[in-house]
Amino acid sequence: MSDLLNRDQKYVWHPFTQMQTAPEPLPIVRAKDAFLYTEDGREYLDCNSSWWVNIHGHGNEYIANAISTQLKTLDHVIFAGVTHPAAVDLSERIIGLLPDPLSRVFFSDDGSTSVEVALKMAFQFWFNQGAARHRVLALEGAYHGDTFGAMSVGQRDYFNSPFEQFFFDVDFLDFPVASNHVQLLSQANELFSTNEFAALIVEPLVQGSAGMRMYAASFLDKLTALAQKHGVKVIFDEVMTAWGRTGTLFAMDQCQVKPDIVCLSKGLTGGVLPLGLTVASDEMYEAFLSEEKVKAFLHGHSFTGNPLCCAAALANLDLFEKQDTRDNITRISNMHQQFAIEIAALRGVTDARHLGTIVAVELTDLSNKAYFSSLRDLAYDFFIQRGFLIRPCGNVIFLNPPYCITNEQLQQAYKVIRQFIEKTFPVD
Ligand code: PMP
Repeated sequence: MSDLLNRDQKYVWHPFTQMQTAPEPLPIVRAKDAFLYTEDGREYLDCNSSWWVNIHGHGNEYIANAISTQLKTLDHVIFAGVTHPAAVDLSERIIGLLPDPLSRVFFSDDGSTSVEVALKMAFQFWFNQGAARHRVLALEGAYHGDTFGAMSVGQRDYFNSPFEQFFFDVDFLDFPVASNHVQLLSQANELFSTNEFAALIVEPLVQGSAGMRMYAASFLDKLTALAQKHGVKVIFDEVMTAWGRTGTLFAMDQCQVKPDIVCLSKGLTGGVLPLGLTVASDEMYEAFLSEEKVKAFLHGHSFTGNPLCCAAALANLDLFEKQDTRDNITRISNMHQQFAIEIAALRGVTDARHLGTIVAVELTDLSNKAYFSSLRDLAYDFFIQRGFLIRPCGNVIFLNPPYCITNEQLQQAYKVIRQFIEKTFPVD
């Protein structure tokens, strides 16, 4: 075992990891474009953009220069009672990209905190008006992060069972499929009619951690409109779906009815620095304006509005203005579409789906245990042994690569997935 791994084993506690049984982590010392390199010279194709964040690839010079320039100008400053150009520029540009009524930007640190902030805003919106609206509606299978509020509105399962007794009141609608839309809308209508609901929260169009499950924009439009008819505040958690992942800049660009609040993170900084944004409508914002301090949104983190993160996010927005980025999204999307059609025909594949730069292949679940499916470990190891970092969610293998991935590299990733399926589900 190398010195790095030795010291890792001695001192580090890794996320989502059973430390007693987990295999050695990959000792990555360098990364460039779509590749990660180990200390002993192995290379891995980063097919899931390092937890879905690294959208332009690693070591992007433009983003690196923006951070470096910012570092030499203003590294960090408290964001209460202080402002700075990078945060203001970023807010202005983000509002310019988002549809009405989204008009106010609140800064935090990651996806979970952007969700936490959205939920607190929705609860306090009602509190400030003296209304007793304490319930939230979410979708079955949801994942919104690992802090308490975010866990409360997520799927209740192995991940959060030790904490379940501390969660607040949440109702879950079944995941929308074509056959249950009418029933779900009628159920939602009944719930919203109680006037007890503060908010509805969804991952628009694609549920990420549930295994890249996709649903129709037309259904989401109806659900959002219904919620808003009853005054329920609608939160779109675009932590995963933004930045071209669904083919458009934001998933909500494919919806007719827009949310009251949106959460952004992950690819926001090109996936190189942690930053969360919660963007709210004027109506939300105005509900916090008062002579009374207690009606203000009394929330913040040490690194709120960190200038380096803002500079990285501004560089990301510049990259999205380039035709190259848009062409890459279309190119990957077209290739994924073809792959999904072809792979669907293989034995063992129960569903193959695609939206934008995400393609997902759902396999027959041999263990029936979703995330803990033994298939997941088999697949992960199979890919690692062949130089591909692909982390399935349970029995769903998916690709959401950085946009700099070449056609050839993508074809290699498709090929290794095909090989795994053919080996695991051989034709008799
Ligand atoms: N919301 C969604 C939809 C996510 O996919 C994630 C992370 N995968 C989060 C929130 C939480 O983000 P973070 O891990 O940055 O806290």
